[in-house]
Amino acid sequence: MTVSVATLGFPRIGPRRELKHALEAFWSGKTNESELLEAAAGLRTAGWARQKALGTDWLPSNDFSLYDHVLDTSVMLGAIPERYRSADGEAGLATYFAMARGTTGDDHAGCSHGSVTACEMTKWFDTNYHYLVPELAEGQKLALNRLKIVDEYREARAQGYETRPVLLGPVTWLSLAKGRGVDPFDALDEVLGLYAAILGQLAHAGAEWVQIDEPVLVLDLDEKQRRALTRAYARLSRSGPKLMLTTYFGGLGDNLAFAAALPVAGLHIDLVRAPEQLDAVLKAAPRSLLLSLGVVDGRNVWRADLDALLDRIAPIAATRDLVLAPSCSLLHVPVDLALEKKLDAEVTEWLAFAVQKVEELALLKRALNDGRASVSEELARAAQAVANRKASPRVHNPAVRSRVADVTEAMYARATDIAARGAAQAAVLGLPAYPTTTIGSFPQTGEVRNARARFNRGELDAPAYDAFLRAETERTIRWQEEVGLDMLVHGEFERNDMVQYFGEQLAGFAFTTNGWVQSYGSRCVRPPILYGDVSRPQPMTVDWWRYAQSLTEKPVKGMLTGPVTILNWSFVRDDQPRADSCRQIALAIRDEVTDLEAAGCKAIQIDEAALREGLPLRKRDWNAYLAWAVGAFRLSAAGVADATQIHTHMCYSEFNDILPAIGAMDADVISIETARSQMELLEGFAAYRYPGAIGPGVYDIHAPRVPGESEMVALMRLAQAHLRPDQLWVNPDCGLKTRKWEEVKPAIEAMVAAARTLRAA
Ligand code: GLN
Ligand code: ZN
Repeated sequence: MTVSVATLGFPRIGPRRELKHALEAFWSGKTNESELLEAAAGLRTAGWARQKALGTDWLPSNDFSLYDHVLDTSVMLGAIPERYRSADGEAGLATYFAMARGTTGDDHAGCSHGSVTACEMTKWFDTNYHYLVPELAEGQKLALNRLKIVDEYREARAQGYETRPVLLGPVTWLSLAKGRGVDPFDALDEVLGLYAAILGQLAHAGAEWVQIDEPVLVLDLDEKQRRALTRAYARLSRSGPKLMLTTYFGGLGDNLAFAAALPVAGLHIDLVRAPEQLDAVLKAAPRSLLLSLGVVDGRNVWRADLDALLDRIAPIAATRDLVLAPSCSLLHVPVDLALEKKLDAEVTEWLAFAVQKVEELALLKRALNDGRASVSEELARAAQAVANRKASPRVHNPAVRSRVADVTEAMYARATDIAARGAAQAAVLGLPAYPTTTIGSFPQTGEVRNARARFNRGELDAPAYDAFLRAETERTIRWQEEVGLDMLVHGEFERNDMVQYFGEQLAGFAFTTNGWVQSYGSRCVRPPILYGDVSRPQPMTVDWWRYAQSLTEKPVKGMLTGPVTILNWSFVRDDQPRADSCRQIALAIRDEVTDLEAAGCKAIQIDEAALREGLPLRKRDWNAYLAWAVGAFRLSAAGVADATQIHTHMCYSEFNDILPAIGAMDADVISIETARSQMELLEGFAAYRYPGAIGPGVYDIHAPRVPGESEMVALMRLAQAHLRPDQLWVNPDCGLKTRKWEEVKPAIEAMVAAARTLRAA
């Protein structure tokens, strides 16, 4: 029996974000289309060469994308909404980027398209990767467009790489699609016809296997999806290449029997998220089914415990051929640990990025095929690293442990209920009706970013940088006073990022210099790495708050990122439950909250922008998540007196299914995103009898457009239909960091005027 190694997808951005730079040069008109395509081809070639050299037997192709693989699939199927169709009817790169990014009408990359907004973008399952939502309209005719998947298979082949093309499965694509006046599943047969043709062409080009991704198989499936899967694979299994049906981001659970019975040649399962499913899968999978085991974490940055894996896999490998793979595409981890020059050596030893993960798989393969003795030295080194991590005092801080153990129920609850607190806060704050505020950040101008960059490069010394930030803060406080805002903020000029800023000051976090992961298109993020018990050595924001408050009589909000958001936007520990890590972060934030209060701060905002996106993929897991996530927020907030007002902010507009949890957070004031949705979601808050105060965003900060006073008054009138006047605050949808001062000034002036109009009425 033999073991082989597959990668299901390799990072597309390149080791040094080459794709980002190539895209941005093209979009800005500095390079032309052929230069962009050449750069992309270079990245693909380098990726194949790299993976091959590392020991991959099953190389992926078509895992590369210029922007997004879901968009690639939509374009391939001809699912191009009418508004992007150019006059010449050609669906080329200009159409592609118009769908991805929208156009302004005179945009270089989308010249023939007039002005259109981009397709809707949303998160890919529970990752931080964003895909472009496929759209299907009534009467839309699908047809194969450019077959990138066939081209890239041929391109690899011409270079001597035999690949297994990656194809997003039809049922997942349809499940992600949005129908305009139609049910996307009505197009199933049409879509399957196109998929069959694609598979036929791949077979013709020489592809023996195709990796067909159906991550929907780890979700709660409805009848329609199940029927579609049955129908799809009955048809596609007869269309040419053998299919490796690929599932990831969770276990098959109740879909297992169903999935194992689909007429495919191979099945990939995620054994990192769902190690417990292995035995059941082995039982359900006929010998003729080639199993691909996702044993190395494609979603996190830790080294695998190779010895433990070998113990588990060796008996299976003795009885059947196996493919070993990362749990999912390596798109979700940074490229190469070897590029980290500044990362602490001890922590570095514990990590594996995409390149290192393929090395781990290759090592497992050799141990299984040639015996452990053949790689005993490598295995011993790997085992030592895993043991070092387990034993490190950097990971385990007894003080943190005992503090967590001493947390009492009372620490999760404010002393009094929300109504009584409201009265105490009103007496202290003395705010007018319809109080106005902002969400925290003010424009991060080129000047601000430039000063930070110079400071980081050592070109600006600490006192000079500090003086610069103080001047920005003072200017912003003065401007807020002038314009007449009621509750001020300091502007967050000192913060690079709402999570990184805190992570850098907390014990237990490490930061990379090059650990980029694609977020969408050319955008990449560098998530902090949470490796150890979390504590807060010293106050993080108190000095900035104190300085800002010293400049004004108006209340200045303390501004913090909440524990759930810090957790959800980091690579987190895999040696303890997420809930435990979150509780530690909550205690650190709690320290900051109480220090702010002690310094005289009367209102503290704890942002939980990422609370909703942490929801598990399976509904039955929601309550458990919400219980600990809400608990962590409460633990961070509840250490203050009644008269201290706790705000929270969440920038999304889907609350209805989690309203009880939002209520249970027990924040005095919550600001949410509503400007685009006509206050619709307040219906839910009203029906639920949400007891606290709400600031429904009246200014959509995602667009450069400046709204006028009457528009904001009209939005607030809609809000008044749902909530009591004393519940309402007036604020933008989110922070203003991405906007320009020229936009912010008139918009906030109009917002303050709108509040005055409401008060006068
Ligand atoms: N206080 C943060 C800011 O303004 C909140 C950002 C967010 O919710 N994403 O910018
Ligand atoms: Zn926000």
